[in-house]
Amino acid sequence: MKSAVGIGMTSQRTRNRMIERLQNQGIKDQRVLAAMSRVPRHLFMDEAMAHRAYEDTALPIKHGQYISQPWVVARMTEVVLECEPKKVLEIGTGSGYQAAVLGQLVEQVFSVERIDDLTRIARRRFIKLGYMNVRTKTGDGFQGWNNEAPYDLIIATAAPENVPEELLKQLKVDGVMLLPLGDNQSQSLVKITKTNKGYLEEKLEAVFFVPFLQGVVR
Ligand code: SAH
Repeated sequence: MKSAVGIGMTSQRTRNRMIERLQNQGIKDQRVLAAMSRVPRHLFMDEAMAHRAYEDTALPIKHGQYISQPWVVARMTEVVLECEPKKVLEIGTGSGYQAAVLGQLVEQVFSVERIDDLTRIARRRFIKLGYMNVRTKTGDGFQGWNNEAPYDLIIATAAPENVPEELLKQLKVDGVMLLPLGDNQSQSLVKITKTNKGYLEEKLEAVFFVPFLQGVVR
């Protein structure tokens, strides 16, 4: 049987078609488009799924989790770049794809995943691809990654029902938190800016993410 690589489903040309589609869907930031044309999305999933890597859909990874849809990754990355962060914390490493895209665009990415097996697989990918500015650890995202705080920006790729307080503490003043908020019926992407007078909250588009869960799985 030919592998997905052998039949060209994972080539640069396939990736470029994904980029064109993202542009047609309203993604404008050239830095985001360039980063997503460089990162080999098909290497962030099992080989059996790789032939579908550049479709505009979320795809299953291990442990009942998902690699986010390209449009969602692109849109969230656009919002991240508007804030010009240097040091970013991600909650929900999953496949590592969103972290890898961010790693192309900001100085440092720290990413926390609650399922240890996913952390290990993602870490191997970062090393193999030479993404040296992306670090990951197993932990409960509700606790963030305190040793490395404060962050310019925190992005969550799993949806809590309420904003995790501890994460707000790990943001710098003028820092931004970008997260999907809601339950499995209805979620919106929310942008929260920490000011020295309090928090500003802005609701962006409707999204769908897996739930933000407590505790670590080893
Ligand atoms: N950013 C990922 C999306 C993965 S899906 C990607 O690009 O592939 C969301 C991930 O969040 C899942 O792997 C899930 O295990 C993880 N997650 C959910 N709740 C969490 C928590 N409290 N702390 C850390 N990770 C969490």
